[in-house]
Amino acid sequence: MTCKEAEQMVMPYINKELTDKELSAFLSHIRICRDCYEELEIYYTIYTGLAQLEDGGKDQNIHRLLEESLRVSELQIRGRKFFQVYYVLSQVLAMAALTAIMVMEILSI
Ligand SMILES: [Zn+2]
Repeated sequence: MTCKEAEQMVMPYINKELTDKELSAFLSHIRICRDCYEELEIYYTIYTGLAQLEDGGKDQNIHRLLEESLRVSELQIRGRKFFQVYYVLSQVLAMAALTAIMVMEILSI
């Protein structure tokens, strides 16, 4: 992913509009690119700052909030990947079981 692509994903990220694939690429770029991380932090600060004003909120450590948000996103992606692997594996096992039953039935005739 280029910095330009990452920059275009900053707002969609904050609005939680990215697909898993986009989110995954965006997060890996943010983790290695200081410039884009800072860009995200600025937008995140503005966005959460405004949200907190609306809430009549307390001033929180925005940097810590952003880190938490990034970590949650990373965990979500990892969780979904694990689930997909598990799902495919269970499908394969189901097919194998079905095949085994069919083979046993054919042999018993
Ligand atoms: Zn970048």
